[in-house]
Amino acid sequence: MFTELLTDVADFELHELEAALAQLGRPTFHARQIFQWIYRRGVSDFALMTDLPRDLRTELPRRFRIGVPQVVGRERSADGTTKVLIELVDGKRIESVCIPDSPGDTFCLSTQVGCAMRCAFCLTGKMGIDRNLSAGEIVGQVLALAGILGLFDRRFNIVLMGMGEPLHNYDATMKALRILANDHGFGLSPRRVTLSTVGVLPALERLATESFMPNLAISLHSTTEAQRDLLVPINRKYGIEELLDTCRRFPLKRRQRITFEYVMLAGVNDTPEDAKRLARLLNGIQAKVNLLPLNEAAGIPFERPSDEAVNRFAEILADRGVTVSVRKSRGRDIRAACGQLITESSRTPTPGKQLAMLM
Ligand code: SAH
Repeated sequence: MFTELLTDVADFELHELEAALAQLGRPTFHARQIFQWIYRRGVSDFALMTDLPRDLRTELPRRFRIGVPQVVGRERSADGTTKVLIELVDGKRIESVCIPDSPGDTFCLSTQVGCAMRCAFCLTGKMGIDRNLSAGEIVGQVLALAGILGLFDRRFNIVLMGMGEPLHNYDATMKALRILANDHGFGLSPRRVTLSTVGVLPALERLATESFMPNLAISLHSTTEAQRDLLVPINRKYGIEELLDTCRRFPLKRRQRITFEYVMLAGVNDTPEDAKRLARLLNGIQAKVNLLPLNEAAGIPFERPSDEAVNRFAEILADRGVTVSVRKSRGRDIRAACGQLITESSRTPTPGKQLAMLM
C-alpha cells in the first residue's frame, strides 16, 4: 500500500480528527484517545491503541497514517546535542536538533526544506527554498526526536530556529504549534516556544493577533539599512525602521521581552559604533539582545570575531541598560549549530531538474 498517500493524522488538530471520525460514523471521543496515544505515549501504530474498538483499529490504518518521519541519520555532539537527519515522505531531507538542558531539553525544529531568505552568513540560505513543511511534518520532528531520545513523558522547549523561515510558512507553523499545545497531547505552553524570524512584516502583524503567542526572536544582525540590505536581503522589502516599529507595537505580557539576535561578523558589524547604534535602535522596546558569534563554515565569506570583540560589544550594550547574552554555540562539532543546517534530498532529481541544474 502507498502509505504516503494516506492522510497524516499528525496534520490534524483535535477538532479535525473529531470531524474525520464523525465522518466515519464514529464517536468523536476516540480522537482524544488517539491524541493521547500519539503525543503522550509515543505510539504511532493504530493496532497498539488498545482502548479503541478492534474494528476501528483495523479501519484507521486503511485511511490514515501517523506521520512520524524517518530518522535516517543521527549525530551526537561532545556537548550532548543531538542532530537528526529526517527523511520526509517525498524523500526530501531536513535536520532537527535536540539540545539537552534543564529543566527541559530544547528541540530546534525546521519549518521548511531549505530557506528562501538567503542571509549572507547562513548555510541553510545557500540551499534556497525547496518546499514548505506541513504542520504534520513540523509536529513529526517532535515525535521523531522524543521517540529516539525517550523523552515522551518530559517537558521540553521548542525553538523554531532550524531550517527555514517560520513566518514564510505561517499557516503550517501556527497549526503545528496549536497541535503541540493541545491538552490531550503534549500540552505545550506558549511560554516554552520561541519563534525566530527575519521579520516578514505582514506575517509578524498577523502573529500579533494570535491566541497562541510564542516568544519572539528577531534576527536583526545589523544596525544600518544599507548593511542589513546585504546581510539579510528581506530588509530591502521590510526595513529596520518598519520592523522595529512593528516590534514596538507587538503585544507583550508583563516582563516578557523580544529577543534580538545579532550574528557577529568580524570587522563587519562588531564595532563599538555598531553596539552604540544597536542600543539606540532598541530604545523603547522591551528587548534583550542575544549575540551569536558567527559559526564559520566553508562557503560563508565571514569570520568569527574574537572573544574580546564579543565581550566589548556586550559591555557597551550592558552599560546602556540593554540586557545581553552571548549564545553558547551547541553542537558546532556536528554542524548542528545556528545557521549550519543543510541537507540534500535522497532521491535523484527528475530529468527536467537535472537539466536545469546543468544549465
Ligand atoms: N529564519 C529564521 C529562523 C532561523 S533561526 C531566522 O532567521 O530567524 C537561526 C538563527 O541563527 C538566526 O538568527 C540566524 O540568523 C542565525 N544564523 C544563521 N547563520 C548563522 C551562522 N553561520 N552563525 C551564527 N548564527 C547564524
